Amino acid sequence: MPITSKEALSRAIRLTESEEKWEEKGSSTLPLLISDHIASMLSIPEIRRQFVPSCEENEDEEGNLDPLEEEAHEKAGRLIHRYHNRAAFLVTDRCFSYCRHCFRRRFTGSLTGPASEEEIREAADYISSHSEIKEILLTGGDMFTLSDDRIDTLLDIFKGRCPDVIFRLCTRAAAVYPERFTNRLFSILRKHQTGAPFYLMTQFNHPAELTDEAIRAVNGFLDLGIPAMNQSVLLRGVNDDPDTLIELCNKLLYYRIKPYYLFQGDLVRGTQHLRVPIEKGLEIEKRMRSELSGLGMPQYTIDLPDGGGKVILTENHLVMKKGHEYIFTAPEGGTRVYPDPVN
Ligand SMILES: *Cc1c(COP(=O)(O)O)cnc(C)c1O
Ligand code: SF4
Repeated sequence: MPITSKEALSRAIRLTESEEKWEEKGSSTLPLLISDHIASMLSIPEIRRQFVPSCEENEDEEGNLDPLEEEAHEKAGRLIHRYHNRAAFLVTDRCFSYCRHCFRRRFTGSLTGPASEEEIREAADYISSHSEIKEILLTGGDMFTLSDDRIDTLLDIFKGRCPDVIFRLCTRAAAVYPERFTNRLFSILRKHQTGAPFYLMTQFNHPAELTDEAIRAVNGFLDLGIPAMNQSVLLRGVNDDPDTLIELCNKLLYYRIKPYYLFQGDLVRGTQHLRVPIEKGLEIEKRMRSELSGLGMPQYTIDLPDGGGKVILTENHLVMKKGHEYIFTAPEGGTRVYPDPVN
């Protein structure tokens, strides 16, 4: 049985004072939900911190519920078209476990439920009439909380109307509810592998999340020829040290999951205690870049407030430009000059 109340949680683990004082407050609070798989791992502090709420969530008055201004970019119901050539469709508000750092708190766990067939059709029509959209992110919430039959219908509608659009299947379920990935589900996905490909987008934030079950789930996608990418969130007290992230990225790479993004925490209300200062993030990024291969290195990225869009954070090596010469600080030490072609 998943844990859905503080009472059940306090029977499973001994709550700290700040966990004890957490209050579920109306619509601005993310509900408490912890799957059996995660419940069995709560003795690991970095897992506990991601899923067990604490009163620090209630004390954060600064954040916003929609810092990325996604609502302003909503087209056709649950479709967010912020970037010219790609869009995100919020399949459902539900997840198998709610992450306390969730950046889409305005929507996640809001009891909106799965998109109706009408909403899916509307979104698919919007996409097919906007030929500039090359990719669609199926996200939420977690699309795999839908039943097999609903996933089948969803893909039927989208694939029928937008056969040339690449679909990113965004899910945290491999980490939090790996038993969801049954042979039946994979056979449904296989049936819809026509036209443009699927990409799997996972979220693993800590090496302990890469359990045998999680890897087996991801392998199901890889066996279908679906490439896997990972998006992590930089989280205080979870993965805000270079060694943890280097281990995570090396493991991901070993299991054929490409580290894609490492996100700076968004300014979402209730998540302040989990955010890491950018200065520290940049130091971590630098260590990671010096110890990981290019393939194993994710892009440290900030999604700017007020819907400004994504920006990559990395050490700036270009010091200045003199005439046609570009002057860099070199990772190997000292500076180097690159003369641009003159013509
Ligand atoms: C992040 C994001 C995307 C995907 O951006 P990529 O940089 O291509 O991964 C698409 N739509 C929205 C609304 C996003 O926030
Ligand atoms: S799985 Fe994703 S959408 Fe769901 S709570 Fe976690 S971060 Fe939010």
